[in-house]
Amino acid sequence: MSKETVDLLLVGASVFTEGGLVDASVGIKDGRIAFISSRDWTPPAAKTVELTGKVLLPGFVDTHVHFRDPGLTYKEDFLTGTRAAAAGGFTCVVDMPNNKPALLTRERFRNKRDDVGTRAIVDFALYAGATNLPEIPGMLEEGAIGVKIFMVSDPKSHYPHDPELFTGDDGVLYDTLTLARDHGAYCAVHPTNQQIFTHESRKRWAAGTTGPKDFMAAYFGENFVGDHTSISTLIAMSEAAKARTHILHVRTEPSIKMIHQASEEGTPVSMEINPKYMLLGEEDMAALGPMSTPYGLPAAQRSRLLEYVKKGWVDVLATDHAPHTREELAPGWQDAWSIPFGNPQLDHASAILLTRVNEGVLTLESLVKVLCENPARLIGAFPRKGAIRAGSDADLVAVDMNRKGVLNDAECQTKVGWSPYSGKAFHGRAVMTISRGDIVMQEGQVTATPGRGRFIPGPAYKPT
Ligand SMILES: [Zn+2]
Repeated sequence: MSKETVDLLLVGASVFTEGGLVDASVGIKDGRIAFISSRDWTPPAAKTVELTGKVLLPGFVDTHVHFRDPGLTYKEDFLTGTRAAAAGGFTCVVDMPNNKPALLTRERFRNKRDDVGTRAIVDFALYAGATNLPEIPGMLEEGAIGVKIFMVSDPKSHYPHDPELFTGDDGVLYDTLTLARDHGAYCAVHPTNQQIFTHESRKRWAAGTTGPKDFMAAYFGENFVGDHTSISTLIAMSEAAKARTHILHVRTEPSIKMIHQASEEGTPVSMEINPKYMLLGEEDMAALGPMSTPYGLPAAQRSRLLEYVKKGWVDVLATDHAPHTREELAPGWQDAWSIPFGNPQLDHASAILLTRVNEGVLTLESLVKVLCENPARLIGAFPRKGAIRAGSDADLVAVDMNRKGVLNDAECQTKVGWSPYSGKAFHGRAVMTISRGDIVMQEGQVTATPGRGRFIPGPAYKPT
């Protein structure tokens, strides 16, 4: 081991290495992990941080966030969004393309990449929008990590996002999958059966029953038939095209089984679950209404999802951080089709997940798989991200598994200033976030220079 002075030495923590938790010191030099060593060996360091009693995990990687930048920055921008990420222990985020204007051309992609980079405080990657097929190769060459496709667009409100990013055409969907494949990239797809959704919606509009629960019933379809028919289509396409397909918003046991089996048989499919499906239930939907939808799954179903995370069948847990103001969601109590859906997640989701670890519902190992290793692999950044290894980026989160308290809106970094988890008790929390060797969050205080976050390019990137 080198006797060279390191920039930062972390001592006292229980460190999550690939061999499990070990009592170790972690030395950081030039933004990378220089060594993981026994606690007795303490080389010279410019700065030493004491982490006794804390667990040091790889920084969390969130492959599904909506930072609203450009175009809807009254809700969030890349500074406030990445600050919320740092607050929750996330050191890498992947932002969705439903901006205004929608990210559908090479020029818009390049402009967004260069502009949001001046505000980011943690590292980031960006999805390209789908449907404008001739522009997809150019966006991938500008560094898009993959292509995001929505299979749903409610004709009444253009839920969920921008109607330009939607395709209801299976031929276009298939061509998008193959285009991304030909550039070494993957497609992330929001699965929905639009025909079932529209059909079921019309029944409820006619009956005048248009609250959040009615919306959910239409959106999922009976016994989640909307999910299952669209996911089986995606699996068939992925298999036929041999195209990497990452299926978003998975929330049922049959969906998990279908995708897992296809993956075991060699089809290049993977799945994402959002913590809100597991952490916000029927009781939250009753209290929060449109601020918690489109979720509110029954308790038994939520428990099953957690079990599948624990047993390692779920590839990625991504927050789908989707901030909206309280004011724009309020009309959803009466007409849930009239509002955009989603809620802010980055500030609080990790505290609730760590609470589930303390309850024994999840393990730290299972959480590191779905929040660190697998998402880093998905975006081709493993083991530079997602692992505590010598040579990896020093992206780390120190968690205090003994910390208890109640989550609240006042501490939120997201621009909209609220979280659906506020008021919930937590047991376990991120207390320090380190991005490439810089402490960007300590005890809830975020201190980092805007623009320090680096862009993580996709596989077809051609620097100009
Ligand atoms: Zn989303």
